[in-house]
Amino acid sequence: MSHVFCALHDQALKLSRQYLACEKALLEVLVKIEAKKVYLEQGYASLTEYSQKALGLSRDVSWNLVTIVHKSKAVPELKQAVQMGVIPLSKARQIAPHLTKENSQKFIALAQAMPREKLQEALAKECPKIPSVEERARVINATQAELSLCLPKEVMEEIRRAQDRVSESQKKWVGLAETLEQVVEFYLQHKDLKEKARRHEVRKSKAPVSVEQSRRTVRESDAAARNSEFNFRHINKPRTKIQTNGRIPIPAGIKHEVIIKNAHQCTYQDPRTQLRCDKERFLHIHHKISVAMGGTNALENLTLLCSAHHRLEHYQSSG
Ligand SMILES: [Zn+2]
Ligand SMILES: [Zn+2]
Repeated sequence: MSHVFCALHDQALKLSRQYLACEKALLEVLVKIEAKKVYLEQGYASLTEYSQKALGLSRDVSWNLVTIVHKSKAVPELKQAVQMGVIPLSKARQIAPHLTKENSQKFIALAQAMPREKLQEALAKECPKIPSVEERARVINATQAELSLCLPKEVMEEIRRAQDRVSESQKKWVGLAETLEQVVEFYLQHKDLKEKARRHEVRKSKAPVSVEQSRRTVRESDAAARNSEFNFRHINKPRTKIQTNGRIPIPAGIKHEVIIKNAHQCTYQDPRTQLRCDKERFLHIHHKISVAMGGTNALENLTLLCSAHHRLEHYQSSG
């Protein structure tokens, strides 16, 4: 071994030990921060947002840490295993989604004994629902992304059948990527609230409809709102008749208009960067002036917030 290599190796080894120690220490602090949710005081809606915007951690690093912090609430053994150096953070992240109180000892021992790839296989063997390949989606250039995932064999056969149907309708051979594109488009047309809201707009702009037709439209949109995987709710939403205090539910038509108006995206604007939150999932409808303060269900008084910013908004308005 050359002197140059020895010197550089010693330096790298020393720094990587410091790096791993820092990672563990940072995890410990983040656990405390999450326990008291002190990031809310500073206007950060979640630990993820705080760790990326205030601490400058990358999306991946913050995702790894936050996943472990959240799982450690239910399974403190996970955090302890990282603290004691039993398993590195990367493996803790790998087992975290599947960890329960019951299997924690076994999974932590597996993580300790195996390299990452073998660990994924072992997890899959222990729980048949866990895929033997980790799901991964990454952007590879300006227009394309690569997706790798593990599917049940029957689902793959169904995708092949869909591929045949798409090929037939286009009168040419169509690959899996294009098949998936068509299937997703079809699904969103039927299930996506943004698309439903757009169609609601189109229906509204058409000639006047008969009473029976308009009743049906309301019934359909109500059912759509109920069936939707998007969770529109209000933090103070009454659960029972006794708790309503005269609160009137937001009509489905107004909900659709709130979605259209705000382009199906959280409307929170970061006061530091002036950037709008890009979340399009788990959106809540929020009363700008609360119902308790006399706020109504009028479109101007309603806005869309992601669950984290909804919580932040109420935290700030209550304190
Ligand atoms: Zn609200
Ligand atoms: Zn948001």
